[in-house]
Amino acid sequence: MDGFNTRAIHAGQEPDPLTGAVVPPIYQVSTYAQDGVGGLRNGYEYSRSGNPTRTALQECMAALEAPGIDTARGLAFASGLAAEDTVIRTVLKPGDHVVIPNDAYGGTYRLFKKVAEPWGINHTTAAVTDLDAIAAAMTPKTKLIWIETPTNPLLNIGDIAAIAEIAHSGGALLVVDNTFASPYLQQPLLLGADIVVHSTTKYLGGHSDVVGGALVVGDAELGEQLAYHQNAMGAIAGPFDSWLVMRGIKTLGVRMDRHNDNAEKIVELLEGHASVGQVFYPGLASHPNHEVAKKQMRGFGGMVSFRVKAGEQAALDICSKTSIFTLGESLGGVESLIEHPGRMTHASVSGSPLEVPSDLVRLSVGIEEADDLLADLEKALG
Ligand SMILES: *Cc1c(COP(=O)(O)O)cnc(C)c1O
Repeated sequence: MDGFNTRAIHAGQEPDPLTGAVVPPIYQVSTYAQDGVGGLRNGYEYSRSGNPTRTALQECMAALEAPGIDTARGLAFASGLAAEDTVIRTVLKPGDHVVIPNDAYGGTYRLFKKVAEPWGINHTTAAVTDLDAIAAAMTPKTKLIWIETPTNPLLNIGDIAAIAEIAHSGGALLVVDNTFASPYLQQPLLLGADIVVHSTTKYLGGHSDVVGGALVVGDAELGEQLAYHQNAMGAIAGPFDSWLVMRGIKTLGVRMDRHNDNAEKIVELLEGHASVGQVFYPGLASHPNHEVAKKQMRGFGGMVSFRVKAGEQAALDICSKTSIFTLGESLGGVESLIEHPGRMTHASVSGSPLEVPSDLVRLSVGIEEADDLLADLEKALG
């Protein structure tokens, strides 16, 4: 089987049969001519049900997350949350129970709390690092364990293989949100997970120019059910957005290597700085889950969080003093971003089990020159 970077560039992306175009064209089209009633050309009928540009992205995603799994299926959505909602509606029914992380993307928590719960889906939160707590949270009605690893924004690491075992022994499926790691650094389906979720808005797209989501599953029947719901609920990725994500994916490997290198240099600066308290990065030997991260990841990623010793106001000041790090939400793009989770990305979970420290700053370390990023941070830290 081809290596990761070869699959990223070629999987699902044969030269266009009509013209030989080396990049899949943007099939900006809603409907397709039929050769007689029901005479579909290559199965294409209507673009909610299928579009060749989206098909190319979906095949590429499956090849990246599930190499060697012939039954794997990728599905592309309008956003990460649309992908998540499709999992909830496909796998769960009212009365079911889910175990979710106590340290998760705020929008995921909101989806379970404000949308799934009124529909009759109960949840229990547990730390992804605490296998006993996850096992104890399981009930006879638990159908899903949902995790992120690394988590947002505290960069905790869950042991995917161990949590998959807990899920399966309780008759549940394991969903892993692989947005922070990307398939270049971590492939949860190969470690026993059942469904991988992505916000392709982040590292896969990589250029802060598209919002999208994806699912990848290994099991053919589950793939079929999810594809049915993708069409029935309709939250598909459009052709241009699919094309942008595919273009981003071609450089995922080289970008992630650079994200890793830059983040490691920044962590070194933060660790030695007098204004900085705890630094959260799974690549640190002192990180409590470093060994698990080493076992299941190829590198430790571009996300770094840290606490500011002088408290919340000082943390807010740092966020407004950088010039290369742009103050903004989101992550995973080529440009570096800085934010205050307590007031920004995680404001909606204030007062919930997901509340984050008020002196926390989160960095999405981009791929600019490391020296420029270091100088920018040093200036802001004072
Ligand atoms: C951004 C994000 C999401 C949501 O994705 P959207 O594309 O914004 O809908 C889900 N999980 C994680 C970890 C994210 O960072």
